[in-house]
Amino acid sequence: MVVLDGSVGEGGGQILRSALTLSAVTGRPFRMYNIRARRSRPGLLRQHLTAVHAAQAITSAEVDGDVLGSEELVFRPQAVRGGIYEFDVGSAGSATLVLQTVLVPLLLAAEASRVVCKGGTHNPAAPPFDFLAGVYLPILRWMGAQVTATLQRYGFYPRGGGRFTVEIQPLARWQRLSLTERGELQAVLARAVVADLPPQIAHRELQVVRDALGWREQDLVTEVLPPGQGPGNVLVLSMESEHVVEMVVGFGQRGVRAEEVARDACDRAKRYLAAGVPVGVHLADQLLLPLALAKGCFRTLTPSSHTETNRLVIEQFLDCRIRFETEGADNVLVIVE
Ligand code: AMP
Repeated sequence: MVVLDGSVGEGGGQILRSALTLSAVTGRPFRMYNIRARRSRPGLLRQHLTAVHAAQAITSAEVDGDVLGSEELVFRPQAVRGGIYEFDVGSAGSATLVLQTVLVPLLLAAEASRVVCKGGTHNPAAPPFDFLAGVYLPILRWMGAQVTATLQRYGFYPRGGGRFTVEIQPLARWQRLSLTERGELQAVLARAVVADLPPQIAHRELQVVRDALGWREQDLVTEVLPPGQGPGNVLVLSMESEHVVEMVVGFGQRGVRAEEVARDACDRAKRYLAAGVPVGVHLADQLLLPLALAKGCFRTLTPSSHTETNRLVIEQFLDCRIRFETEGADNVLVIVE
């Protein structure tokens, strides 16, 4: 049994989700203590508990400690089975993180799957649906996966109520990844989305993007969602290069000016554009696990503590060596062999 201390490194939910994914993939049971010990509300929140139950559903696992607030969990999986699943966080907790927990195991199942996920689709501190569908899944497709995702309804924090569906075909064989160059920047798009909020919020955000990044009028889009999906606001800055797409997002928050939300997102987009690397900071930590299975390399910004922590968890389950080679400022080659 793999024994993990959930307080190491980042000490958040990702250690648990990665352990669930890796346990499902390898069939190795694990015990984790100090779950989310470094977060202000430690233990399992709804999103994490939904991820545990999702991993349990696809592996018929025996589980101990799967209650809200639990700081210890034992997970004993059996073989992964594809099929039709529905996972509902039941709050605005991130449904995209639940999906990421089960996606790689379901790719490795013998059967195809259809997964409906309900909960938050656009949460701070989690991949928004746009990032899942537009950044993460395209790379998994290059790695051999046949997977598509469709958004039916937005779910913003704190209301939730979002829904998306993912279709997954069994993976024939992982393709080794080599994503070391970004290529020319080919297109940019800033989408400012508002739900049950005044469109002026979106206009003010896009004004900042125009000033800070110099993007053209035709690359700035305001999207007003049909009523009943808010309140919520997200600014998605999408940068499409020859070999990869990156998206940086900013979320509108009560008490934070729209200009500030947009300026912060623009600063992160500038960092990515200046570094010239293909893989952004969030994609790096999320891509490490599939990379550890497919093998290969990618070039990224200076790794976050999420990436550093994910490396530790992956090395507990898989017989692989993960190296970070710093080649310059914000230029690190990640190699798995
Ligand atoms: P944790 O904080 O441990 O629950 O993990 C959060 C996960 O969400 C990590 O994989 C982050 O990379 C990811 N994440 C957070 N913010 C974003 C974002 N703006 N875009 C994409 N992924 C994100």
